[in-house]
Amino acid sequence: MSVNQQAHTGLPYGQPQPGYQGYQQSGYGGQQMPGVHHSQYGAYNGPLPGYQQPAPPQGYFSSLGFPSKGSSVSLNSDTPTLAPNFIGTLRAPPTSGAPLPTSGAPVPAGQPVYSQFGQGDVQNGIATSAVQMQRPSASQPFIPGTAPTPVSQPATFQQYGPPPTSAQQLTNHMAGMQIGSSTSAPPPAGLGYGPPTSVPPTSGSFTATGSGLYTSYSSSQGPPPVTMTHGLPPTSLSQGLSLAQPAFSGPPLSAQRLPQAPGFVPPPCSTGIGPSSYPPTTGAPRPSTMQGSQLPGQALTGLPTSQPNHVSSPPPHPSMSGPAMTGLQGPPPPTHPSQSGYQMQQNGSFGQVRGPQPNYGGAYPGTPNYGSQPAPPPPPKRLDPDSIPSPIQVIEDDRNNRGSEPFITGVRGQVPPLVTTNFLVKDQGNASPRYIRCTSYNIPCTSDMAKQSQVPLAAVIKPLAMLPTDETPPYLVDHGEPGPIRCNRCKAYMCPFMQFIEGGRRFQCCFCSCVTEVPPHYFQHLDHTGKRVDFYDRPELSLGSYEFLATVSYCKNNKFPNPPAFIFMIDVSYNAVKSGLVRLICEELKSLLDYMPREGNMEESAIRVGFVTYNKVLHFYNVKSSLAQPQMMVVSDVADMFVPLLDGFLVNVNESRTVIVSLLDQIPEMFADTRETETVFAPVIQAGMEALKAAECAGKLFIFHTSLPIAEAPGKLKNRDDRKLINTDKEKTLFQPQTSFYSNLAKDCVAQGCCVDLFLFPNQYLDVATLGVVPYQTGGTIYKYAYFQLETDQERFLNDLRKDVQKEVGFDAVMRVRTSTGIRATDFFGAFYMSNTTDVELAGLDCDKTITVEFRHDDKLSEDSGALLQCALLYTNCAGQRRLRIHNLSLNCCTQLADLYRNCETDTLINFLAKFAYRGVLNNPVKTVRDTLINQCAQILACYRKNCASPSSAGQLILPECMKLLPVYLNCVLKSDVLQPGAEVTTDDRAYIRQLVSSMDVAETNVFFYPRLLPLTKVDVDSDTLPAAIRNSEERLSKGDMYLLENGLNIFVWVGVNVQQGLIQNLFGVSSFNHISSTLNTLPVLENPFSKRVRSIIDMFQAQRSRYMKLIIVKQEDKLEMLFKHFLVEDKSMSGGASYVDFLCHMHKEIRQLLS
Ligand SMILES: [Zn+2]
Repeated sequence: MSVNQQAHTGLPYGQPQPGYQGYQQSGYGGQQMPGVHHSQYGAYNGPLPGYQQPAPPQGYFSSLGFPSKGSSVSLNSDTPTLAPNFIGTLRAPPTSGAPLPTSGAPVPAGQPVYSQFGQGDVQNGIATSAVQMQRPSASQPFIPGTAPTPVSQPATFQQYGPPPTSAQQLTNHMAGMQIGSSTSAPPPAGLGYGPPTSVPPTSGSFTATGSGLYTSYSSSQGPPPVTMTHGLPPTSLSQGLSLAQPAFSGPPLSAQRLPQAPGFVPPPCSTGIGPSSYPPTTGAPRPSTMQGSQLPGQALTGLPTSQPNHVSSPPPHPSMSGPAMTGLQGPPPPTHPSQSGYQMQQNGSFGQVRGPQPNYGGAYPGTPNYGSQPAPPPPPKRLDPDSIPSPIQVIEDDRNNRGSEPFITGVRGQVPPLVTTNFLVKDQGNASPRYIRCTSYNIPCTSDMAKQSQVPLAAVIKPLAMLPTDETPPYLVDHGEPGPIRCNRCKAYMCPFMQFIEGGRRFQCCFCSCVTEVPPHYFQHLDHTGKRVDFYDRPELSLGSYEFLATVSYCKNNKFPNPPAFIFMIDVSYNAVKSGLVRLICEELKSLLDYMPREGNMEESAIRVGFVTYNKVLHFYNVKSSLAQPQMMVVSDVADMFVPLLDGFLVNVNESRTVIVSLLDQIPEMFADTRETETVFAPVIQAGMEALKAAECAGKLFIFHTSLPIAEAPGKLKNRDDRKLINTDKEKTLFQPQTSFYSNLAKDCVAQGCCVDLFLFPNQYLDVATLGVVPYQTGGTIYKYAYFQLETDQERFLNDLRKDVQKEVGFDAVMRVRTSTGIRATDFFGAFYMSNTTDVELAGLDCDKTITVEFRHDDKLSEDSGALLQCALLYTNCAGQRRLRIHNLSLNCCTQLADLYRNCETDTLINFLAKFAYRGVLNNPVKTVRDTLINQCAQILACYRKNCASPSSAGQLILPECMKLLPVYLNCVLKSDVLQPGAEVTTDDRAYIRQLVSSMDVAETNVFFYPRLLPLTKVDVDSDTLPAAIRNSEERLSKGDMYLLENGLNIFVWVGVNVQQGLIQNLFGVSSFNHISSTLNTLPVLENPFSKRVRSIIDMFQAQRSRYMKLIIVKQEDKLEMLFKHFLVEDKSMSGGASYVDFLCHMHKEIRQLLS
């Protein structure tokens, strides 16, 4: 332990830190971290021994300015002439309110000090592994010279100068659109599949005022009008030709726009990026195991036991709205359903209800006609869904254009391919997008510019991400006793951006510009370009991501850690036993013991295991290898939890296998006749944590739990579920824990490196918001299986458990993100704990978890230098080895807003906005959160329109090419279960989803908010290629087809009533539609090519997701169809969420208001 870590001894790092002010959002709209800077890990974050840390107020050095590498003094010092029309920030000013007892910010309250119970009257035996862990050899030694070979950049990669962006304009369809209000109650949405011909949509027209331009929309619009232009300019991606950058208001950003015709004007085509807009790619698209479109989606977990019965074809809304048809040039205007704009509905949503929709006959451009229906009737006018930006098209274009070339990370500020594109990454100095994705790869030089644009600057970081097998995991660098080379001042780790000077004797820090001596053992000569001659031999000089072996000074108490332990803690109350769950878990654990994570090529896992069962009391088991039979020790005083045995509790699997197997055989029998229905919960976590503490190791608790813990014990809860709070100011309390007890417990767990994974099997409300606090703050995972039934749910549960036990995880981790002068990390989102403003503490961090970091300016940035991020994660691996994983990323900086807008990534933006909103509901009315999101996005788009788009009619909606999906995706977030719950969504579902999303990576949020929907009759049984996905709207479905929909939590197979009998036979093994059982949760294994192919697609999807998805068969017009329709996110939702078309119109109105 270095001198800096003395704090540990006096102030164990679970204790509240002086000066801690919480990292909570105080008031929606943001928070700023107070400038407190207490480091838990001195050697890690603090100064190296012998160096005096300057201790700046906030850990940053804004006053120093960024050193110019040469003599040039900041090209960016002139603030662009942006002054007028600043659209102020949405965020509240920094506040320093006291922390609240919500997740993410434990409240230092008077919690019991559990350690004082110590071992009490129990013999304090020898810890089972008191042996000092030997440092195992590196599992992946770096072999100099073999790894990072320089690869010359393809000519198409152009440095830092992205071409002008193209924009997409929606025409004046919406011009002059008046948002009125209607007093008529909205008709039921999305019910039934109306007959293809005669049902007019209930959704209606917009009442025109003002300009008189006006349009209505119908659900059965024919093919898109032909008057679109495809004036596609070169791409918005950074690989095109370099063009001079326009000034803010200049026209040079060519936009895709449509001619503005009087009356009905067809909006632009949804295909924003034509193939021509990218540099030609050579070679065919990559074949496809990963190639299915991954669309975002929205989840509902835990199927409600009963669904409202399906009601087919409600009567169309008859009233017509009048005047506006004049001057329409489009298809003839038939009946026109009434709709006079966006009325505020009871839950505060806007948007029209769209009624039953005729089947859509396949007007999706570029895809075959799926429908077996006759052509739709002459449609009423509305904004044509085919003419507004299509997620499917954007995904397909990116796949076609960027999927065939490797993504080489050598170039600063390069926007990576979309998460839905299958591509290979070659690390040449920046971290792979699998580790870090940013909302923008070109960030404004000044804070004013950033505020003007309102584009959040954030990085979604997945430090331990798994890589595909054809990519190289980070190399391990062992510098021996001296440890990693770091900047003297800011402690940044050696990386490719450090600049060696004075013949290689010193280096200048790329983050803080401090000059540090190169230690003699690390000295190397420079070549004529100033590069060290060993540049390519050292990962830390040439790669974006690598690992250092940590020295003992990076370890708690200056001691190398023991290997971690897993403790399995099984609820054996009546419900758990009766449902067969206890037996299932015990059976599974017997085989899982052989699959504990191993490091590299170690023969056996170093992880020790222990077992506890509980109901109102806890039972510990001695499974020492020398015993003939396991021994049970009961602790009934749950108020003073202690661990009654040390020796024999945590054991090596192979040594104790016989005893363990015997125990797992006996547990189901022992409790077979239990009548105990009550459970405790907090004492279970305390017991696990105390056991780890006694064994002096980090580890993970796997808790299998069934009910609200109402038994008398610390952390006892009451049922406080109250759906009446929805849409009131008190709704936020549903997301908050009902007691601060668990926050304090979580803090103790983090101090011990005790990560908690929670498997819940509720039959009723069990307060996920409270039970989830400890898993959430310890970096753990929650799984929820509502109404668990052995037959239908065991496959999903067992797959999740297997994956969870085996997955790569780092323990007792701390993450710090350093940035170059000018910006700093100010806010953090995810499953972790923070005791100060900079260090993200994670009792555990697995390969699927992300931490999202928001950055703010604290000074100007320079276009020359760009901006740098370095994420350093200190953790203990599953072998007990202490390591540092480093990820570096360099971004461009701009003085022109246009550069910002053409280097954004909407998927990452949505990931951030969803997390931001989902945290906001803890402290704010949900409606406020929704309004804030809408407002922010409107400002983002208005700023673009004002400053970057060429002058055009105010009636046109012009979207930046890179953000043209922002409205559709944002709408999906707004109508998600957390922000706008349907009647079937439980309080626990919402709390569960809220926590789940907070750790999701970009690929997961993408498919979660906009699900992937594939037509199964288009599946080519002879090819690995997936059929093109279709948009998530009922009108895209054909009665004659079957569809697969996945969102990361569920997979649906929807079967139309008119599907050919042969296909039904092939897939379900029954003779007709009526014989298909909707209770199936797996497809029958049939020996025909169609069945095999569909099942292999489902297996492939399952493998891509971190959780096993529940398979649900939905027959058209069956009761479950209501559930399915919840995921058709382009449609109006049952809970009042707007359709995509309506929302786009609403956004346009918001933007117009901002501009006027
Ligand atoms: Zn530095």
